[in-house]
This record gives sequence, C-alpha cells and structure tokens, in this order.
Amino acid sequence: MARYTGAVCRLCRREGQKLFLKGDRCYTDKCAITRRSYAPGQHGASKKKLSDYGVQLREKQKARRIYGVLESQFRSYYEKAERMRGMTGENLLKLLELRLDNVVYRMGYGASRSEARQLVTHGHFLVNGKKVDIASYKLSVNDVVSVKEKSRGSERFKVFAENPKTLPAWISANPENFEATIIAEPTREDIDIPVNETLIVELYSK
Ligand code: SF4
Repeated sequence: MARYTGAVCRLCRREGQKLFLKGDRCYTDKCAITRRSYAPGQHGASKKKLSDYGVQLREKQKARRIYGVLESQFRSYYEKAERMRGMTGENLLKLLELRLDNVVYRMGYGASRSEARQLVTHGHFLVNGKKVDIASYKLSVNDVVSVKEKSRGSERFKVFAENPKTLPAWISANPENFEATIIAEPTREDIDIPVNETLIVELYSK
C-alpha cells in the first residue's frame, strides 16, 4: 500500500482527536479538529456507534498514523513485538518509539514526525558516528544520535543546542554536541501517545 499523501488533518478528523501531524499549526485555532471535530466525508457528521472491531481498528489506525507507519510495516512491528518478552502492546509501542525518526522528533528536530523523517532521509543524522538515512532504523540502548557536522550551522539544527526540548527519561541530551544518547528502553509510562495498545493486540489476535 502506498504512503498516504492526502490532507493529514483528515486523519485527525477520522480519529476524532488531535494526532499532532502538522507541527505548529496543531497548536493554533487553525487546527481542523478545533473547527470541525466530526469525521470527514458526506456522512462524517452523523454519529455512528462503532462495533468492538471498529473500536479496535480505529485504535490501530490512530497509532499507525501518529508514527506514520504503513500497514505492512505496522504488522511486522506487531509480529516482532509478539516474539519479544513481556507485554505485546507495550513492546509494540517501544519498537515504534525507538525508530530513528521518532527519536529525532523527540530531540526537537522537525515540528512533526513526518518532518523529522524527512530530515533523517536527507542524511542529516549520524548514529554512533555513522550516517543513517533510514527513518525506521531501530535504535538500541547506548546508541548516540547526532547531527552531521556539516548540518550544524543551519538554523533548524541550532534549535536543539540553543533551546533544548525536555526529552523523555530514556533519552539523555548533550545539546552542545548536537547529540542525544538512548540510555534505556522506553517504558509505557514514558510514552505519551493517546493509544490503548490492548485494543490493537485484540485486533491482531483475532
Ligand atoms: Fe491534526 Fe494538527 Fe491538523 Fe489539528 S492541525 S487536525 S492536530 S494535523
């Protein structure tokens, strides 16, 4: 399935809540959810009660849309999460959080995950000193993510050094060196996305 290229605000409206896919605009009154909180389409405004399957499906779509992951990739994250020790739902979120584009976003580069993904694919970041331009690259504990020397002069990259964002507890920042280190795997409490992962597990376990 191809990557969704339509209006991203429709995705938030479909899920009935802000997914913060558009950066700064999401925090203004131009946000489509603020203006039209009903689902897009001809029948969007009519309230329909969802079946259990529908509720589970919406939760999976929400998680997929927040992280910008295609269905097939999402399914393979789920299968990997199932093989890991511990709770499958929590493992799934952990794998998504450890994606390089997500960590770059958490570091404050890119107003949204999709912008962060673009910065990664354009080759601005190093992992342990080596260029990595694969957005889905899975980071591990002790990995160091840094901005490429050549990119550090640009305004958009100075933001981290000059105005560092508060990072989650599992990432330690070294803004002067434009780098951050993964010091632990994220726990469920560290992951602030509004998703009920149990519903996703229920959906895929059918
Ligand atoms: Fe979603 Fe942001 Fe668009 Fe609002 S502005 S609908 S939060 S993507």
